[in-house]
Amino acid sequence: RANTKKELPEHFKAYKHVWVAVEIEHGQVHSVSFELLGEGRKLADKRGVELAAVVMGDDRASLDAAAVACFEYGADCVYLAQDPALKHYRNETSTKVLTDIVNTYQPEILLLGATNLGRDLAGSVATTLQTGLTADCTELAIDDEGSLAATRPTFGGSLLCTIFTLNYRPQMATVRPRVLAMPDREEGRTGRIVEFDPKLVEDDVITKVLDFIADRDTDKANLPYADIVVAGGLGLGSAENFQLVKELAEVLGAEYGGSRPLVQKGWITSDRQIGQTGKTIRPKLYIAAGISGAIQHRVGVEGADVIVAINTDPNAPIFEFAHLGIVADAVTLLPALTDAFAAR
Ligand code: FAD
Repeated sequence: RANTKKELPEHFKAYKHVWVAVEIEHGQVHSVSFELLGEGRKLADKRGVELAAVVMGDDRASLDAAAVACFEYGADCVYLAQDPALKHYRNETSTKVLTDIVNTYQPEILLLGATNLGRDLAGSVATTLQTGLTADCTELAIDDEGSLAATRPTFGGSLLCTIFTLNYRPQMATVRPRVLAMPDREEGRTGRIVEFDPKLVEDDVITKVLDFIADRDTDKANLPYADIVVAGGLGLGSAENFQLVKELAEVLGAEYGGSRPLVQKGWITSDRQIGQTGKTIRPKLYIAAGISGAIQHRVGVEGADVIVAINTDPNAPIFEFAHLGIVADAVTLLPALTDAFAAR
């Protein structure tokens, strides 16, 4: 870094403040936006600048509700863009509006959730603005000069690297749901709203939304926000034995998931993969059966309050970070646990 840092170009010196681009789908703010506001608050306070949220959509009532929530989760200011063409997310319209607001009000830092929508939007906004984007960060920090230190796993998760966007503004980063803690909500906290006219003309928008078809996958997992997660790994030996994970999860009212090789083997769907290239979870209780605890798995579960590991190998890496380790055959222990909890 010392070798590469140059003087920030003059026209970027006016860029100030920390922003979060809020994700709203079907009228609801995604929790990751509040998690980002919590982190953004810390960055803004350290730098002595303002924290702002950008809300975009068509429905005034849900935009106003989103603004209230953003204030209560720490925003000082909300940039509000309302337009019929923003009814549904489209990369084209959202990229245009967000880049226009950025170019007008010039934030130093712009954060988005690393959701399907956030990933889509962040990439095109960074490209349009010709600035740097660090995706899937696990940690954010700021120095006295306003440089964002965005840390993320690299080399297949075996190293953590800290990336700086030195000579461009805004500095952009995405963070996955549940990587950051949910901040406390301060009821009644308010701030100022800045209305922004998106100046969109529907006829000019190439992408048209013809219809929304409900996701037919009724088994859709909500792992990131589950209170209890039971997961299995290759140690279970077969897809049939993986049923034991599902049975325990059902008795506990938990979500179930697994390590990456289980997706590759077709034992579970990809939305149930836990880890660096899967879901990050923060449950109160995580039970991992037959999972070795590779670093790529570990980074997705470290935020759990209590980790219980079941593994036949007393030297398995998972025992280094589990709160409770049980050296046992999971194929025998899981049904015993299921029976014991079912009997309670
Ligand atoms: P193994 O490593 O084979 O471990 C099986 C464990 O089960 C062993 O510890 C063994 O002692 C134990 N065992 C055996 N029999 C029993 C039994 N009867 N009862 C109890 N325990 C038993 N992995 C992820 O999970 N998520 C990711 O997101 C992810 N992303 C990756 C991204 C990259 C770029 C790369 C390179 C890898 C990624 N991986 C990911 C893979 C990761 O490196 C490991 O290979 C994987 O997590 C191992 O899965 P496992 O623990 O199920 O299997």
